Amino acid sequence: MIPENHPRRQSLLIRERLVELMERGAVVPQGLIAHGRGECFDYLIGEATQGFAERAMRATVARILTSEYPVISVNGNMAALAAKDIVAFAEKVGAKIEVNLFYRSYEREKAVAELLYEAGAKEVLGVGDDASATIPELFSERRRVSPRGILKADTVLLGLEDGDRTEALVRLGKFVIAIDLNPLSRTAQKANITIVDNLTRVFPRMLSLADELSKLNRQELENVWKSFDNRKNLGEALRFISDRLVQLSKDL
Ligand code: ATP
Repeated sequence: MIPENHPRRQSLLIRERLVELMERGAVVPQGLIAHGRGECFDYLIGEATQGFAERAMRATVARILTSEYPVISVNGNMAALAAKDIVAFAEKVGAKIEVNLFYRSYEREKAVAELLYEAGAKEVLGVGDDASATIPELFSERRRVSPRGILKADTVLLGLEDGDRTEALVRLGKFVIAIDLNPLSRTAQKANITIVDNLTRVFPRMLSLADELSKLNRQELENVWKSFDNRKNLGEALRFISDRLVQLSKDL
């Protein structure tokens, strides 16, 4: 039992959930390591949504609202931490949901899809024979995608993704949006838009941004995402962390 007033209660609850879902087969041990890396960067940004993330989310929602075929790529950690909000967001913006796993097995695909169906998803792509297409240049199970999903998508929103796959998707001509707490990861650097924030905060915030931005016309929406500069924004994230650390060191 974690005491109600424990200062890191939320973070401990999330860890417990990931461990529980690892036992259910949706999360892999490597996912726990990735989560730890994310927690570290979350500390550095103050465990809050900062201006650079807010701007990236606005560009994301604007891009998705003007996309022909947006797809949200979901792995074990994402489903464990945000299934309900991912499903609600996909529904609101008309995006498909695809299970896309680095460590793929039919059992895991089913376990992750199960979490999404429990959260209210009507359709989940990328399970079993549906993941019959391949991304060129990638090896083994890592390259399988759905021909009705990521293969066909013009925009792919993903989280906790590895750099090789992000790069391969960009090379395929996909507009890739990454949620990644580490502004230095290869995924963060290769994506077209990088949201440097915790995915547990990102989906609820994007749900309200979708309400706000859907009042804009197509031209206005295009202006929002086309004027977004990812490299500049990543630079701002790094500067924020650096300034914050300097400030914190002065306060000691
Ligand atoms: P790359 O191959 O892109 O250089 P990597 O080897 O770290 O990076 P992964 O282990 O697949 O790739 O990625 C995990 C990434 O997800 C890490 O950068 C981590 O900071 C980030 N991450 C972990 N948990 C969260 C979370 N809850 N929200 C957002 N990002 C997260």
